[in-house]
Amino acid sequence: MSEPAVALVTGANKGIGFEIARQLGRRGIVVHLGARDAGRGRVAAAQLTAEGIAAYPLRLDVTDAECVADAARALGERHGRLDILVNNAGITGGFFGPPSAATPGDLREVYETNVFGVLAVTNAMLPLLRRSPAGRVVNMSSTVGSLALTADLDAGAPGFKDYNLVTYQSSKTALNALTVAYARELLATGIKVNAANPGFTATDMNGHRGHQSVEQGAVVAVRLATLGPDGPTGTSQDDAGPVPW
Ligand code: NAP
Repeated sequence: MSEPAVALVTGANKGIGFEIARQLGRRGIVVHLGARDAGRGRVAAAQLTAEGIAAYPLRLDVTDAECVADAARALGERHGRLDILVNNAGITGGFFGPPSAATPGDLREVYETNVFGVLAVTNAMLPLLRRSPAGRVVNMSSTVGSLALTADLDAGAPGFKDYNLVTYQSSKTALNALTVAYARELLATGIKVNAANPGFTATDMNGHRGHQSVEQGAVVAVRLATLGPDGPTGTSQDDAGPVPW
């Protein structure tokens, strides 16, 4: 019998990330729940363990280089490889307002987690992903990050129109660009890199105003995390399939 696949989900102590870990775990995948707070990670992992899932907490603040390196080392020592990385940790940051009122610091706050954190974690985990027979990277994006969907300035045109979310929105656009760049770099390795758009999902991030459940929000990431050898790379997808960049 082949060994179970090994996954890491960042920001998995709650919200969509926790549910992604649960859905991967239910498929027999060994899941590591990245959490910046060790206590919250332990509680979350214990909940999945009680459901019969092979779940382990892993302290991981994606903005802390030392913590990221420690997490990669711990996974390497335990499994020697990583099959699935879901870069799920994300924040909206404290600034809400038009771009003309934002400071570089407002953008930097959000980018530290949503962009630089993804780069740092992905690069730390790549040596382990390269040892997988079927490495998969899923970046949790958002349709608000799609320029194709948001660039039509006509007020009546469909798409996201709220420029007051410029810090978060632009961070997801940058994340989309990273996704494409990694997919291209890793094309020959078989490691597939895709962006998942969960849809507006009720979590702490939006004061639970989202119209979807976390169960629904997790579906696309789980699908992209478990793609077969013929699955796509370098795509942005929601529940229904590819969405425009
Ligand atoms: P959430 O409930 O607020 O959960 C966010 C998770 O990220 C939490 O576990 C949080 O940990 C963690 N996190 C934040 N900063 C971190 C850091 N520096 N290091 C490690 N973990 C960190 O949000 P969510 O709605 O589940 O969002 C998950 C992902 O989906 C995000 O990337 C988000 O942008 C994306 N997304 C969400 C929606 C939606 O409608 N909810 C829509 C589109 C995309 P703490 O508990 O310690 O804060």
